[in-house]
Amino acid sequence: MNSICLTHGYADGHYVLPPLPYDVSELEQLVGSETLLLHHDKHHAAYVAGANAAADELKKINNGTLPLQCAADITQKLAFHLGGHLLHTLYWHNMVGSPSGLPQGELALVIERSFGSFDSFCKLFSTIAESVQGSGWAVLGVDPVSRGLMICGIKRHQDALVPGFFPLLACDVWEHAYYLKWKNNRKGYVEAFMQHINWDSVSELFEQSYCHEC
Ligand code: MN
Repeated sequence: MNSICLTHGYADGHYVLPPLPYDVSELEQLVGSETLLLHHDKHHAAYVAGANAAADELKKINNGTLPLQCAADITQKLAFHLGGHLLHTLYWHNMVGSPSGLPQGELALVIERSFGSFDSFCKLFSTIAESVQGSGWAVLGVDPVSRGLMICGIKRHQDALVPGFFPLLACDVWEHAYYLKWKNNRKGYVEAFMQHINWDSVSELFEQSYCHEC
């Protein structure tokens, strides 16, 4: 399994599409290889292209070739596409083909401290994932103020998100993530996702994000 670092989505001054960290056949049981290919090669690629287009437009505002009045709309566009790019990069690494074990070490302790127990975390994360209205995500991450863990139910890729929240585990509940295999059964998809979490990737990001001295 390749290691995860969110900066893998940026190179040579542009946002780039990182390759999937496994063969698409590995997630046949969870989402299906057809969905995975479309999701990565078309949807995620479109968010990368959109983030680059918005970043280029902001440069044009800076050099005066686009009017300043466009700036607010372009920053909204950048937040949507860059949010999509970041969360998909995380999502690919968060899944494994075989049913996963449990979180280990310090991550396990912090989950218990933040949610009471691992079971309570699973119930809360699943409920939020199943309940996001329309298109969005359930994301476990670090609360930048308390330094504990929290779960955000994100709408689209960027709404209802706490500034400074550092994401560790993302479940995509846009219909494009599961509809070919699970149809309207989002609950079934979320239950399967919970059984196929790559806890090593979550731990790796947790180590990168968590301030042990604070
Ligand atoms: Mn998606």
